[in-house]
Parts: sequence; structure tokens; C-alpha cells
Amino acid sequence: MFSKELYEDIKVSNDFNFFYQRKGLLMCYQTEKAGAEEWNTGQRAIKEGLKVENLTKEQVLTIEPNAGLNVNGAVYYHSDAHMTPNEFMSQMKVYLQNNGVSILNNEEVLEITVSNHKISEVKTNNLQIKSDEFVIASGAWSQKLMKKLNTKIPVQAGKGYRINVAQETGIKIPSILIEAKVAVTPMNGFTRFAGTMEVDKINNKVNPIRVNAIAKAAEKYYNGLKILQPDIDNAACGLRPCSPDGLPYIGRLSKIHNVTVATGHAMMGWSLGPATGKLVSEIISDKRTSLNLHPFFVERFS
Ligand SMILES: Cc1cc2nc3c(=O)[nH]c(=O)nc-3n(C[C@H](O)[C@H](O)[C@H](O)COP(=O)(O)OP(=O)(O)OC[C@H]3O[C@@H](n4cnc5c(N)ncnc54)[C@H](O)[C@@H]3O)c2cc1C
Repeated sequence: MFSKELYEDIKVSNDFNFFYQRKGLLMCYQTEKAGAEEWNTGQRAIKEGLKVENLTKEQVLTIEPNAGLNVNGAVYYHSDAHMTPNEFMSQMKVYLQNNGVSILNNEEVLEITVSNHKISEVKTNNLQIKSDEFVIASGAWSQKLMKKLNTKIPVQAGKGYRINVAQETGIKIPSILIEAKVAVTPMNGFTRFAGTMEVDKINNKVNPIRVNAIAKAAEKYYNGLKILQPDIDNAACGLRPCSPDGLPYIGRLSKIHNVTVATGHAMMGWSLGPATGKLVSEIISDKRTSLNLHPFFVERFS
């Protein structure tokens, strides 16, 4: 039933190895109600052309035998892939620098000067930068930066937490623990448990109550899993850039012609980054975009 090739590691190119694997995604459920809702979504995905199966508990344990999964079943999306983001980012930086890209660390954009419907200069704490084109991709901070251009784009920070567990968990296939709203990803040398959407002001405070809730919820889905206190203490948070309608902002501004905005990807920025990057390059190169950008119109709330 499960095609073998999905379980092989995929080497993307000779320049990178960031443990990209295509093992699909198990949407694991403990209650029949959650299972029925997820299968409803799965059937819609099948209509869109995706390969999705509704697995019994026994079938789930056949493909994920060593994790002690305690579920009633799972909806299995075959096409999902995962990787180890910190390995990707460090290699991507080296690749870009080797190909002529300058990365300026610790430079905060403080002022933006506009003249003749164009950004003429950007001032950071140390530099004054002129350029033909500017891309604003400043995540949860985008609203603040866009105010400097008199453009309203509502973006709120949706804080999420992750716990990295180095001990062997036996988990080989990424899963979402539906009722607990926890995402589980096997990465290179550790398993990541992530969750929570805490809409708040911008800060990097880690709330131990939320982190403990993720650990406790995960332990209920894997018999024998015990997330150790040092891993809980090392939990970190990140800020997802959330728009009111859940769609990103991608495109040019109507009144300032050399700016392209790419932000608001909320919980999906990692997955959607490559597609957004492609659209941004098409916009800047004056090419026809691969997608209709109307739903992502940057000034839709202005
Ligand atoms: C726990 C957790 C789990 C997640 N899991 C997934 C997942 O499984 N799949 C998925 O697709 N997505 C996931 N996401 C979401 C994803 O991480 C985000 O959507 C993505 O990081 C957003 O990328 P971004 O580049 O838009 O913003 P960011 O990554 O926030 O980058 C914005 C950058 O702009 C900089 N900046 C801001 N203001 C200024 C300024 N004035 N001057 C200079 N620089 C500035 C910031 O310092 C920052 O470096 C997860 C997020 C969290 C928190």
C-alpha cells in the first residue's frame, strides 16, 4: 500500500544537504470526531489531486512501528516533505555569499526616504543604502516598517514554541497530533515538538506553562515518551507573521514603485518561502507571475 520511494532520502543538489525527506504527514487522532473532521479535509485534498489515505490504528503502526503511537488512526498525506531548517539556513547563507550576495548582520532599518514615488535611500544603524529595488520581508515587524511608507498592512505576531528532543524517540514520520495541536518532526539528530499560537505584542519571552503543555500533550500520544526537563528548559519561541485573512501579502505597492512586499505567511512561511521567492523574482524582473497575485494584494486593508 505504501510506495517505497517515499521513504528514500532525496538529495536536492550537490550544494546542499539539509536532510530533505519525503515521508508524508500523519494527521494523528485519538477521538473519532477529530478523525472524521480530518478525513473530510483529506477528501477535499484528494479532489485537488493529492494522495491521501485514512489509516486505521494498525496501519499507522505498520508504517510508524517504533514510536509507541497511541492513536485511533491517522489521515496520511503522502506528498508532504520535511527537512532540518537550521542546516538549510546555514548552508543557504554560505551558498549566497559564495555567489556574490552580501548579508549585513545586525543592521536594523531605521529610516526610509521616498522621493519621486521611489525609495531613494534606507538608513540602518550603521549604513545608508541606495538600491534599484527593495523587498520588505520583515515578518512580524512588517507592520511597523510599512508605517514608514504610510501603508497599512495589519500583521500580528503569533508566537509558537519548539522543544528539541535529542534522545531516540523512534519517530520517523512527521505528525500533527490533532487534538493537542502539536506538530512533530524528526530532524537530523533530534525530534522537534512544536505548537501554540499566542497572539501578543512582539517579544521573545518563553512562557513555561505553554512549553510544558506541549510536552505533556505529546507524551499522551507516544507511549513511553518522556520529554526531559533540560529539553523543556531549552525550548525557544518564534514569531509567525499573521494577517487578518490568513493570506500573505505579496506584490508591489501602488504608489512607491521600487518596493516589493513579501510577508504575512503565518504558520506556512517555511513551506511557502520558495514559491514566494519565485513570485518576488518574477515581479522584480517584470515577468508574468506564475500565480494570480490578486488574493495577496498588499494594500487590501488600506
Ligand atoms: C514554532 C514554529 C513552528 C513553525 N513550523 C512551521 C512549519 O512546520 N512549516 C512552515 O511552513 N512554517 C512554520 N512556521 C512558520 C514560519 O517559521 C514563518 O512563517 C516564517 O519564519 C516567516 O518568515 P519571514 O521571513 O516572513 O519572517 P521572519 O523569519 O520573522 O524574518 C523576518 C526578519 O526581518 C527582520 N527585521 C524585522 N524588522 C527589521 C528592520 N527594521 N530592519 C532589518 N531587519 C528587520 C527580523 O529580524 C527577521 O530576521 C513555524 C513557526 C513557529 C514559530
